Amino acid sequence: MNLNSPLSASIVIVVATCLVIAYAQLFPDMAWIVIITYISTMIFLSIILAILAWFYRKHKSSIDAGEMAGIIENLDVEMIIWTEDFSAVYMNRHIRELLGIQGRNFDQQAEVMRAFGIDSANPMTVTEIVNSTSHEAHFTGADEEPVTIMWGTSIMKKTRKHTLFFSTGLNVTELKKTQFELASTNDLFNYSMGIAEIGLVMSNDMQNFIASPETVRMLALKNNTLSLKTLRSLVHPNDRLTFDGALKSTCTDNTNDIKSIEIRISSADGFYHWYTFRYKDMNRSDSLPIFSGAIIDSTQEHEKDLIIERLAYIDEVTEIANWNKLMDVGQETYEQCQLLECSYWVIVLDIDRFHIINDSSGYQNGNYILKNFANIIYKFVTPGGLGARISGDNFAVILRNYGDDDLPLRTAKAIQDEFAKSAVGNSATINLSCSAGYSRMPEDGDSFLNVFEHAEFALKSGGSENNTICGYEASMHDSIIGRNALERELALAIDNNELQLFYQPKIDLSTGRIMGVEALIRWIKPDGTIVRPDAFVPVAESSHLIGKISEFVLSEGCRQNKLWQKMGYPEIVMSINFTSTDFYQKDLKDKVFEALVKTGLDAKYLEVELTETLALSDIDYAVSQMNKLRELGVKLAMDDFGTGYSSLSYLQILPITLLKLDRSFIIDIEHDNIAYEIVSSVIRIAKSKKIETIAEGIENPNQEDILRKAGCDFGQGYYYGKPMPAEKLQEFFEENMKKTK
Ligand code: C2E
Ligand code: MG
Ligand code: MG
Repeated sequence: MNLNSPLSASIVIVVATCLVIAYAQLFPDMAWIVIITYISTMIFLSIILAILAWFYRKHKSSIDAGEMAGIIENLDVEMIIWTEDFSAVYMNRHIRELLGIQGRNFDQQAEVMRAFGIDSANPMTVTEIVNSTSHEAHFTGADEEPVTIMWGTSIMKKTRKHTLFFSTGLNVTELKKTQFELASTNDLFNYSMGIAEIGLVMSNDMQNFIASPETVRMLALKNNTLSLKTLRSLVHPNDRLTFDGALKSTCTDNTNDIKSIEIRISSADGFYHWYTFRYKDMNRSDSLPIFSGAIIDSTQEHEKDLIIERLAYIDEVTEIANWNKLMDVGQETYEQCQLLECSYWVIVLDIDRFHIINDSSGYQNGNYILKNFANIIYKFVTPGGLGARISGDNFAVILRNYGDDDLPLRTAKAIQDEFAKSAVGNSATINLSCSAGYSRMPEDGDSFLNVFEHAEFALKSGGSENNTICGYEASMHDSIIGRNALERELALAIDNNELQLFYQPKIDLSTGRIMGVEALIRWIKPDGTIVRPDAFVPVAESSHLIGKISEFVLSEGCRQNKLWQKMGYPEIVMSINFTSTDFYQKDLKDKVFEALVKTGLDAKYLEVELTETLALSDIDYAVSQMNKLRELGVKLAMDDFGTGYSSLSYLQILPITLLKLDRSFIIDIEHDNIAYEIVSSVIRIAKSKKIETIAEGIENPNQEDILRKAGCDFGQGYYYGKPMPAEKLQEFFEENMKKTK
């Protein structure tokens, strides 16, 4: 039974009282004795019960308080029971130790307030403490280290005198320290990044990027997240390919290297700045971004670099990219092509007869034309492409290929048209034209240089014709290789004196006498094979070799003619052929004069044959060169008349002495009336201009007859004799002299 229970005691007393009353009813005589006994017994029992209850209570309550105190005292939380004036009723061991309280004698109020972090700087009322769900208190602990406790307080008991508050605290000092470290590390990090002006971008899906505060500042972003599209739109159009390549390589390249690109990005000031974008693809995991990049404003370095680059990569004359830049950008683009599976066109352009223009119009004007050409080609460079001067009059354009196969042809044609129209001022009378060759990247080569060389192959395949545009085809490769081999072989042949002049007689149609010879070059190989000029003169013309060949022809022709004169043969005219390279040389007159002086040949026995196309490519300069030769007394013949412009009006302008009717007219002259009419009209007009005429390619007496009757002065052709070596011609002389005595 629980003696402590008043109900139990009451039941016992009520039952006992009922029993006594019942007994007194049954035995009235004994009632007083029973009642007295009952009362005495009850008093005794009450005393016993009271003693027992006191004992029990005392014993029981002392056990609970001890347990409780032990638990609270050692509880792993801070605990304070306090009153409304902050006086401590109880503080457990944890908080006492933290506050450095030893023994019982301490300032209870001061220590409680200290525990709650209350001081003059941070005054707090009881109500504030009770109302705050978690009150964060800071104080200096016993070990002089800062302590942070999160207190929770509730009202424990209200008495008439006091209100007891029960506060439990959680020591969060370590947690706070970590948080602070984290926060300050992050702040410090961002702060440092700001000072160093390093922006960061990260992404774990390559679609959405998170920008660091410094990136947000540098690029004036609206917030710290941006999509790939937005990021890409900030990149300079010319650098987008590089940017795409970087992102693509991040996704495909498994190396863990830090890579770096230089790109322009639209910045806070509204201008494009150069940024070094260093990036790395992290290993894909749940916690790490797969892409992490740092952007550093490198505009200043770039400006310094630009000066250096200007010197190294910019062509001085045209102020566009030079060969070095072309190679660098070209190779970079080639690699982008492979990575991004895109394609580019490489167009190589060559100004036709630029050496002539340069010589005729002067160095200054030549530079002006080059600059002008550079500006024209630049107009056609699209974003991501490049225009560059390779050397001399050679230029290159790199164009993005969007699947338009006609683009290089159209672009080259448009450049040709603009260039032709640009002939003004000093160059107004020059026919400005250019030729082009193109190839596709990466398909047409295993490196940019290779693709570029193939575009050059295509350009060369156009031959020495002006205004050609040629696309590269694999078959050209062999012919170009053959061409290069031929060039090397020819160079050796010149050194080994394998070149020889053959002479074809020219006959005076009225007397049948030899009146001149045309010197026609032959390459006699060591095995005796004779190579005709058509097979090697064009190759020589597109290389420096033509100069050497022409020098030989000029001096050998003069020497041989003088020798024949010395040998007593009739005085005849020696005709030599000039290419445009020879003819438009600045010092042509000096060279011819030198050859004449050296050999002692009178200028009137030398004739220079020029084609119409050659003379009309720069008519003013041609006339001036012709006049210079005429001043020396050298004769001038217009070769192959009828194959080019065939404009008789030029006979008025050009100071020629002889007109050579092309073989194509002569072939038809016997059967074709029109051919005959043309030939006889040309002869008539030439005569009226005091220009003599000669027919090329006479192969039979009938042709000779017709031409003689048409008034043609001279004839040349297999009918009289094929081109032959000097000794053979001497025999021809002998025979001719005998025949025409
Ligand atoms: P060209 O100056 O018109 O020379 C005439 C060409 O016609 C020569 O060819 C000659 O052999 C050929 N020919 C002459 N009569 C007849 C004929 O009756 N029938 C036929 N079928 N052909 C005839 P070749 O010697 O092969 O020269 C070809 C071209 O090469 C020349 O045309 C000339 O433009 C150029 N050439 C020749 N020698 C030299 C040279 O020393 N220097 C330069 N720059 N070019 C040269
Ligand atoms: Mg000729
Ligand atoms: Mg000819």
